[in-house]
Amino acid sequence: MADIRVTVWNEFRHEQKPDHPARKVYPKGMHQVIADHLNAQPGIVARTATLDQPEHGLTQEVLDNTDVLTWWGHCAHKDVKDEIVDRVHQRVLDGMGIICLHSAHFSKIFKRLMGTKCSLLWREIGEKERLWVIDAAHPIAAGVGAYFELPQTEMYGEIFDIPNPDHLVFVSWFAGGEVFRSGCCWHRGRGRVFYFRPGHETFPIYKDANVMRVITNAVQWCAGDRGPVNDVRHVKEPMEKLA
Ligand code: ZN
Repeated sequence: MADIRVTVWNEFRHEQKPDHPARKVYPKGMHQVIADHLNAQPGIVARTATLDQPEHGLTQEVLDNTDVLTWWGHCAHKDVKDEIVDRVHQRVLDGMGIICLHSAHFSKIFKRLMGTKCSLLWREIGEKERLWVIDAAHPIAAGVGAYFELPQTEMYGEIFDIPNPDHLVFVSWFAGGEVFRSGCCWHRGRGRVFYFRPGHETFPIYKDANVMRVITNAVQWCAGDRGPVNDVRHVKEPMEKLA
């Protein structure tokens, strides 16, 4: 089987600000940490792309050679050009997988794919998160046990304004009391979409073994079989003889 080609996209703004805490956690940017991890997995080849590159690093050629795109954005969603969002959206409908991470819930591409506001509650005091596996048979949950915990996270709480997921894989509980649908799958056209909540930039979330296991599993799920091509055809002759 051919390697899964992943493009790890990051807006890469927090990590470049001299005094921003994210710079201490991810001196080369969180995209580099995610891509390095994926490149260490058999059957996956990952490259990176960032907002400030020409065409945000997402030329048609890059997207045409991407099986799964991962997306992290937070403070610069509005700087993502609509024409690039259109291009990514079209590729998803044509079969590219996409994994939207953490604050990508408010990205233009995620909101486009969902068709809802994608709003949620949040609190940033570094509380504990426990991610419960809801669908133990789902391949994205493989290898993480019944639950796993992150000692310090930003809280996201319901109501998360999304369409009901096609598969709900994780639900998070937070020490402060809220719950959140933190691992959600959808199908859009021929493409598979996974939203995964963890990833606040000031905590070393993408250095956690369980988080990275889930992202690796999600890359494999998002690259899965697409079935037949959806095309538009005028089918003049019926397959069966009609009386
Ligand atoms: Zn955050």
